[in-house]
Amino acid sequence: MKLKHLEMTLQRLIGFSRPRAALEQYQTPAPLAARLLYHALMKGDIEGKSVCDLGSGTGVLAIGAAFLGAATVAGIEIDKKAVEVAEANAARFGTDVGFIVADVRDAALPGRIGACDTVIMNPPFGAQQAHADRPFIDLALCIAPFTYGIFNAGSTQFVKTYTAGRAEISEKVGGVFPIKRTFSFHTKNVQDVEVEILRLISNRYMNPGA
Ligand code: SAH
Repeated sequence: MKLKHLEMTLQRLIGFSRPRAALEQYQTPAPLAARLLYHALMKGDIEGKSVCDLGSGTGVLAIGAAFLGAATVAGIEIDKKAVEVAEANAARFGTDVGFIVADVRDAALPGRIGACDTVIMNPPFGAQQAHADRPFIDLALCIAPFTYGIFNAGSTQFVKTYTAGRAEISEKVGGVFPIKRTFSFHTKNVQDVEVEILRLISNRYMNPGA
């Protein structure tokens, strides 16, 4: 599937019916989702791989990975309502994605979902609840050798420090996240938020047994 085609297809997915601010439910816009997925595809981290989307929301990243030929795709999401939308999206587009209602902070989760090849995620940026992105990073590094995450621009240093000794940032790709007026505290119709897509390599996999 070509990048433009992927973007146009993802554009047609149904979004959050009643987005929840506390969970930072912002659906990744199709162009940004397609960019992350295509980048991962080109690195050989999607096709034929087992992929896990942490905080899968309405399923944009997970379903996109399935479109690009992932062998298996799982989506982990705390909000049951979002999972219902994601399941409807996956069915509507004929993709096979297993969505699981779960909290990424649940210590039993790695054992429950097992290891995968690649994590893709657009975690909360921590605007509502400080450090909300940390458990996403922790879980990602624990279950997969390669992680692609969307972070606020300028987060690289934080991510580097936070993951020191556990992972390395192997790539950084810039992007823009146009956030539409969604919540009462939004003052503009559209706010362009600069973001960066980071590719992390977990040391656990780089140095097996370390
Ligand atoms: N991946 C989707 C949604 C991104 S918004 C997309 O790219 O469009 C972040 C998502 O993380 C929301 O759906 C939110 O409900 C979910 N989330 C927030 N905290 C969570 C937690 N502790 N465990 C699992 N999911 C969580």
